[in-house]
Amino acid sequence: MSSAKRGAAGAAKDLSWRTSVDPAALPFRDGEEPWTSEEVHELIEELLADIAKQEAAVELAEHELADMRDGTDGAGRDPADVGANNFERDQEMTLAHSAREMLEQGLVALRSIRDGHYGACENCGQPIGKGRLQVFPRATLCVTCKQREERR
Ligand SMILES: [Zn+2]
Repeated sequence: MSSAKRGAAGAAKDLSWRTSVDPAALPFRDGEEPWTSEEVHELIEELLADIAKQEAAVELAEHELADMRDGTDGAGRDPADVGANNFERDQEMTLAHSAREMLEQGLVALRSIRDGHYGACENCGQPIGKGRLQVFPRATLCVTCKQREERR
């Protein structure tokens, strides 16, 4: 595991930094009110709940995968069963992968709140905007860059 990832996980484990977050340091878009500490704390709570949910999803998917691996040792299996099992395993791996990705994004978001650079678009550097972040706390791109990315 890279040190960057360990750092991100640390932001979720030791939460003592939460009380020293400066809401005024977080960017917001023209026409929006600056962040209040209540809003920032809501955001942190939401991210923590999401992180816990994704962690549970990763664990469950990995558990299922381990079960499937244990079950594939039997000899003389019907090729159709093997095919169905492979399909299930692929699905489980996709689930595990996307849960792990969302978990990682949640941790990165949390860490960037801690480090005071949350809310800036990672592509253009403009504020992502409170409206968008309150709906998608894990967003790392502003609406414009996100739409451009989706068109590619
Ligand atoms: Zn952008």
